[in-house]
Amino acid sequence: MSGKTWTAVDDYIVSSLFEPDPVLDAVLAANRQQGLPAIDVSAAQGKLLSLLVRIRGAKEVLEIGTLGGYSTIWMARGLPDDGKVVTLELEPHHARVARSNFERAGVSDKVDLRLGPALQSLAALESENAGPFDLIFIDADKPNNPNYLSWAMRLARSGTVIVCDNVIRDGAVLNEDGADANVVGARAAFSFIGGEKRLDGTAIQTVGVKGYDGFAIAIVD
Ligand code: SAM
Repeated sequence: MSGKTWTAVDDYIVSSLFEPDPVLDAVLAANRQQGLPAIDVSAAQGKLLSLLVRIRGAKEVLEIGTLGGYSTIWMARGLPDDGKVVTLELEPHHARVARSNFERAGVSDKVDLRLGPALQSLAALESENAGPFDLIFIDADKPNNPNYLSWAMRLARSGTVIVCDNVIRDGAVLNEDGADANVVGARAAFSFIGGEKRLDGTAIQTVGVKGYDGFAIAIVD
């Protein structure tokens, strides 16, 4: 099986199960036009995030790594009327594009985008007594995965769901040589989740339009 098949099957999933979505199509088109890298989650993955928000009954969501806000919009759509996503982004250009996409998708009132290094924004959130968050999606600079997981634990409560993206990396997660900082970050996520008594987790390998990767998912006891 090849990447071509994975992409065709992702197309089949979307065309069979999802309504046409001109808003999300326009969001991805705006991201392209504005030169953002196409490293957002796929539509099928975005829908999974939205479903997880609903399954968890989440009202407070935290996302680390906004890009153009594609995954943020999916999660915002899963929230109740009084729900909120706080999303953290380092790059001012990404944040500008994301804000315009939130307007386009009609979710601006549900999204609080914080610009700056996520580690600083997380410390600020704690000092504001923000949270506890019901669902936390980690999808930023991978070497910081253990730091983000550590912050996630501080901003969580019993029952919080934590999702950490891109932890399989074409299978490179098996490499122990430490040559690739993103792989080191992926392995650190496994070490953290496996070593944290309050977390019960697994990881799922995925193929699709975004290639071969996977995500870790855990619940806080
Ligand atoms: N979650 C997005 C989606 O699926 O639509 C994709 C996020 S993209 C994989 C990672 C984002 O994290 C980029 O926009 C990048 O600028 C941002 N980022 C990288 N380092 C960061 C940091 N230290 N603090 C906050 N954001 C960071």
